[in-house]
Amino acid sequence: MTGSDTIDLLPQPAPEPAAVDLPQDIGYPGRIHLHVDATDIVRRIFRVREVIPVASAGTMTLLFPKWLPGYHAPQAPIELFAGLRLKSGGQALGWKRHPVDVHAFSFEVPEGVDTVEAEFQFLSPTNPPQGRVVVGAELLSLQWNTVLLYPSGYFARRIEVEASLDLPVGWQCASALHATTMDGGRIAFEPTTLDVLVDSPVFAGRHFRRVALDEREEVHLAMVADSPEFLEASAEQIEPHRAVIAEADALFGARHFDRYEILFALSDEIGAIGVEHHRSCEAATLPGYFRDWDGTFSRRDTIPHEYVHSWNGKHRRGADSWTPSFHRPIRNSLMWVYEGQTQYWDRVLCARSGLWSADHALQAFAVTAATHQVRAGSRWRPTSDTTRDPIIAARAPLPWPSWQRSEDYYSEGSLIWMDVDTRLRELSGDTRSLDDFARSFFGGGREGSWTTSTYTFDDVVACLGDIAAFDWKRFFIKKLEGKHAGAPLAGIDRGGYRLVYRAEPSAYWANTEKVSGNINLLFSLGLSVANGGTLQEVLWEGPAFAAGLTAGSEILDVNGVPFSPDQIKSVVGETSNGSPVRIRVRDGKHERLVEIACSTGHRYPHLEALTGTRPRLLEILAPRR
Ligand SMILES: [Zn+2]
Repeated sequence: MTGSDTIDLLPQPAPEPAAVDLPQDIGYPGRIHLHVDATDIVRRIFRVREVIPVASAGTMTLLFPKWLPGYHAPQAPIELFAGLRLKSGGQALGWKRHPVDVHAFSFEVPEGVDTVEAEFQFLSPTNPPQGRVVVGAELLSLQWNTVLLYPSGYFARRIEVEASLDLPVGWQCASALHATTMDGGRIAFEPTTLDVLVDSPVFAGRHFRRVALDEREEVHLAMVADSPEFLEASAEQIEPHRAVIAEADALFGARHFDRYEILFALSDEIGAIGVEHHRSCEAATLPGYFRDWDGTFSRRDTIPHEYVHSWNGKHRRGADSWTPSFHRPIRNSLMWVYEGQTQYWDRVLCARSGLWSADHALQAFAVTAATHQVRAGSRWRPTSDTTRDPIIAARAPLPWPSWQRSEDYYSEGSLIWMDVDTRLRELSGDTRSLDDFARSFFGGGREGSWTTSTYTFDDVVACLGDIAAFDWKRFFIKKLEGKHAGAPLAGIDRGGYRLVYRAEPSAYWANTEKVSGNINLLFSLGLSVANGGTLQEVLWEGPAFAAGLTAGSEILDVNGVPFSPDQIKSVVGETSNGSPVRIRVRDGKHERLVEIACSTGHRYPHLEALTGTRPRLLEILAPRR
């Protein structure tokens, strides 16, 4: 500010734009008709035509769904929405996008019209940097939230929608919504409410197979694949998937759905995904899930994980995570229950069902425990704060994940729930367990009630207290709000095991390395590197960190020999004999030679049984059917 300026010449804020109407719990007059043409597979364009009844003349606002329950964040791909044209009574209508709330489009409804017609496209990504690819040559996944606009001012459950979908000729599809096929391959879905429609995605493809997984034929595995041979699952391979359903029945006691579709894509053309819904889930996995059954086994936890969410996350949801409209912000304070306990149960159900052996599950827990043991971020950032990560980072790659932390409520949460489970068992003389919590908290209520029932922190504490008296409130506040070094390992110890490191990897570890295409040397050199030589992660304050390495650099050679996965592994193995590790890296235009101080040899995490201690983890992992 110069001496000649006066205060009235300084800029003042522009007036705030009017806020979008808050949703009300009142019925929207009439039913929206939504039609999606998904036949342009080559260009991966979804073309939408929507007829929306209008209540009266005047200003109306249509919204593109923004806050998505399964993502816990404002992750809607509004940048891929294009071509909006509005008309009514044969007349084109002008529209204006909200200057800040860019998911909102307003226009004037003329006098004397009953409906407005909207046409637009969802330009689905044609390669991964644009977002998750959802259309392959012979399959697609459709999330309804990408192909609809809805009127502001109403709860999602009070807006009725009747949707139809055009697919390429000869394709079949599955969804939690009942559908009928009409002439020419058009699929008509039963009318439903906006919240249920968005919660009922569609998987479709030329190569399609659907298998019942239970006696009641309510739960189905609906598969699409890049080519037909990937659908050739044997009866022996389907059997443990049937067992997941039976084990979930034994665990929760009641189902809160009339039908459940596991939408399963075996594809490397569309992007990998696991998203929970109330009566379905989306799981896109490796094409060789069945064909290379042993070679992909570490990925078998996806289906149990998403299925458990029908109870933990959908039927029961933290009170601040439930919102009445896709326009209202989702808060995530109880995600350590929603995801942490789900991750715990997915591993337990993998073992109980036979998707994994009990050893595989113990090996998976060992990896989680060791990962958090060296995760320095817990020294500055409480676990509860990581529940904000879906909004903060939205799973973007991070330079220092071990220091920044990222959605640690999943995996650290699973260790906290193992602590709770073994503690319940110890407190009750091994007569009660977290199974009792699951049955009461998630399974309780009326069979056939499909609605969401919200809960608070105090409800979790009260339910645990009913199973075994303990100061659960203090326990969780200490675990979740406190800062700490190292992983919560009490559940492993009380379960009859301890975390150890050996020179040989477990089968689970080796499989995750193979499937991911990375070499994980976090517990020796403090780094992980892709098979091609690009550093994926450098552990905060680990040996590679001390040597000045960073994620994204290329390893050119190791001890003078050109980089290869076998070469770097062999060099690490020799560090226990005092052999050095000299790595030449390229970072942009610059090359450097660094020496990493490491004398440990290979260190791979395992759980080792304690002698003379009750093997509670084995009891937890044993089948209940
Ligand atoms: Zn989950």
